[in-house]
This record gives sequence, C-alpha cells and structure tokens, in this order.
Amino acid sequence: MHIRTRFAPSPTGFIHLGNLRSALYPWAFARHNKGDFILRIEDTDLERSTQEAVDVIIEGMSWLGLDLDEGPIYQMQRIDRYREVIKQMLDAGLAYSCYMSEDELNQLRDQQMANKEKPRYNGLWRPEPGKLLPQVPKDVLPVIRFKNPIGGSVIWNDAVKGSIEISNDELDDLVIARPDGTPTYNFCVVVDDLDMNITHVIRGDDHVNNTPRQINIMRALGGAPPVYAHLPTVLNDSGEKMSKRNGAMSVRDYQKAGYLPQAILNYLARLGWSHGDAEVFTKEQFVDWFDLDSLGRSPAQHNPEKLLWLNHQYIQQTDPEVLAQLTKPFAHILGIDTDSGPNFVQVVGLLKDRANTLIEIAEGAKLFYIPPPNSTPDQLATNIPQAIIPALKDLIHKLETAEPTKEGYGAAFKQVLAQHQIKMPALAMPVRYALFATTQTPAIDSVLVVLGKDEAIKRLSKVVH
Ligand code: GLU
Repeated sequence: MHIRTRFAPSPTGFIHLGNLRSALYPWAFARHNKGDFILRIEDTDLERSTQEAVDVIIEGMSWLGLDLDEGPIYQMQRIDRYREVIKQMLDAGLAYSCYMSEDELNQLRDQQMANKEKPRYNGLWRPEPGKLLPQVPKDVLPVIRFKNPIGGSVIWNDAVKGSIEISNDELDDLVIARPDGTPTYNFCVVVDDLDMNITHVIRGDDHVNNTPRQINIMRALGGAPPVYAHLPTVLNDSGEKMSKRNGAMSVRDYQKAGYLPQAILNYLARLGWSHGDAEVFTKEQFVDWFDLDSLGRSPAQHNPEKLLWLNHQYIQQTDPEVLAQLTKPFAHILGIDTDSGPNFVQVVGLLKDRANTLIEIAEGAKLFYIPPPNSTPDQLATNIPQAIIPALKDLIHKLETAEPTKEGYGAAFKQVLAQHQIKMPALAMPVRYALFATTQTPAIDSVLVVLGKDEAIKRLSKVVH
C-alpha cells in the first residue's frame, strides 16, 4: 500500500505548539513508509479563518522541516468539487433535501428535551419507499442531508484507542450542504480524504465523534475508510487544555524566544509517542522509529522545563559556526555589531555550554562587545575590595606583556597570585566583575583570549583608580 497522510488544520484562531503535533506525526508516518504527506487547509469557516493563521502553520512547518509532497490545498478552492459530489449523492438517492425551518428544528429539539430524549433530527423529509413526504414549502431553501444508515453500527479499529463501535441510531441524518449550497465540514473532509487517497488519518481525538459520520458518508460514496489514529489531547503544564488564554505559545513564539527547531521537533515527538527510553534523538532517528503502535493513549502534558532542557542539549551539540549564524539575528536585536570586536564564533563557542536559548547566548555575547554600564560606588566596593586593587594593578602590567593565549594569561594570573599570596577566586572574581559587571563568566583565561588583551586592560584600568 502506498501510504498517504495529511495534516488538515482549520486556520481559525491561535495555532499553538500542541496543534503542530498533529502535523508532525502524519509527516513522520509518511516519511517512515516512503509515502506522501499532504497539507490541506480547512478554511470553509470563512468568518473564523485567517491568512495569519495559515501563515503561522506554513512557517511553523517549514521551520521544523516538515516538508510537503502536496499542498497546501485550500478547501475553499474545491467548492465546485463538493457541489458536484452533493449533486451525485442527490441523484443517487444517498442524500435528500430537507425543508425543515430553523423554527421547526428548534421546536423539535425543545420537545425532545422536555421528553428527556436526545435532540436529533426526526427524519421528516427523509424519503423512504412508500412514504408520503410533506408538501414542499415555497419560501424555505432546503438543507441537504445525508441518508445515514438505519440500524447496525459503525465499527473501526482506531490505531490509538482500539476498537470503537457507535450505533447508527446515535447518528441522525447529517446536513452536508447549507441552504445557500455551501458544503459542511464533515462532508468536505470525506470528499477530500477520498479524492486525496488518504490511507491514514492521524488527528486529535476531538474528532472521534465525527469519525462514524465520516465513515458512513465515505462508504456511501463507495470508498474504503482509511486507518484512523486519534491522538489524545495535549494539556498545558497545569493540566488544562492548551489555549492562548492560559499561556500556550505558537511555534513562532518559540522561534523568537531562541529555541532550535530540532529541540522543538524532538520535544513534540515525545508528546504522546515514545521509543524505549530515548529522549534526545535526531529527526532521522525519529522518522526511522516512528510507528502508530507506540503512540500513547493518555493525554500528554506540556512541560516547559523539559523543552528548555532539550534546547540546551541541542545548543551544546551544535557546532559553534552554525550556532553563531543562528544567534546573529538575536545579537543584532541587542545592538551587537558581530562583525567588529571579538570573533563572534569564538564568543558563541565560549558561551554555548551554559546557555539554554539563543537569546541567552546573545545576552552573554553582548558583554564582549559593549562594556557594561558603570557600577555604583557601592557595587564597586562590594565586588572589588580595596585590598585587591594592588594585585589588579600588577595583573594589568603582567597582561600587557603576556602571550595572548590561555597559557600566557594563566601564567600572568599565577605570578600575581604568588606575589600577593592570594588564591585564584580572590583575584578572578574582581576581574570578572571589572570586565563584565558580573561574577558569572566562563573560565577567565578563555574569556581573556576571546575578549582580547587591549579591551580587557581598558576595562580593568577603569576600576583600579
Ligand atoms: N480541521 C480539523 C481541525 O483543525 C482537522 C480535521 C481532520 O484532521 O480530519 O481540527
């Protein structure tokens, strides 16, 4: 079988990270099986669909490297095709016009509720052999309803949830076209999944209720239902459904916050899927390992600390040259001219082991290019005790003639420590503070190599007078 999967987002409202998991899994399944992956934009809800949401989806997917074989295909551009199928269904007696007005429907619902029955369409306009239909009213435009099978049930073997059976008596005759002729959501999905030869539908489990309806329409159209895999929801870190209101972020937000796409992909992969105890893996490994059998059955929970940890792992693994390129845009935002002053690749190389995000690298790098603002007298007194000033002065002299290498600077420090009978921290802390107005820096000899002797002496000289 040639595997074909799709991601079929509705571009309505906010697209958070969890939403893109429904793109990642079908993509990985298609790639694993050398099949095709299609992007279909379900934009028939004209009032709620926005181009902005479409852009967020497409950008996010391309940033994560989820490449497409087909698409984006916009449902709004397929309206003629849906109308054509509706006509075929009417002609074949698979669907019918229903002239029940809104008011009548509401009345029916109220009555059913009062009788403690489940509200559902009562089949008034459904043609049956020998049944006399009501007279067609003049001023009501009909909806088109699908003739759902009566009796029996719809059964499918969900790749995540196992066997699911829904009785047809639970399903009323679904409206497939509105009075103005526009097709409805569940109908378009079926026509598309059939036309696009989708073999596996991997989507959020909020669609489980739609599935029996879709299967019935699909069978009526002569199609064979695909394999369905309904993914449990992604909850936020407080266990609520993810939403913008409770702080969910889009992929674009993560990109702006200095996350690497590999980290996001790896993180999303583990939100509801596992391979033994593997936590850090490449995109290639993920594709290699991905199967539907290892999808989790319980809701996955978003864990921002884990994501940060993964980002740190990927930053550590990334070559400084590559990382420098990725960090440059963030550095430029902070006003750093990466082309003058210390070598940016070396600066990044020095900072990467401690950083969790590209922004943290850029912030650390800033201190190499732009001297820190002047400290207050109190801050100076606390961080650079008077007693250490003579040692600092000697260090400046030693640095002037030192070899501009780690070893050269290390030797200069050693000589000053011996001369003044002090230990390394007593000297290194004030030096760090004098250079960067912080006592947290990478190894001081490496820092000096990257910052450069002249700039270091300039900054040290400012605090010894
Ligand atoms: N458009 C639906 C959504 O965004 C997905 C439909 C599907 O995957 O079948 O939730």
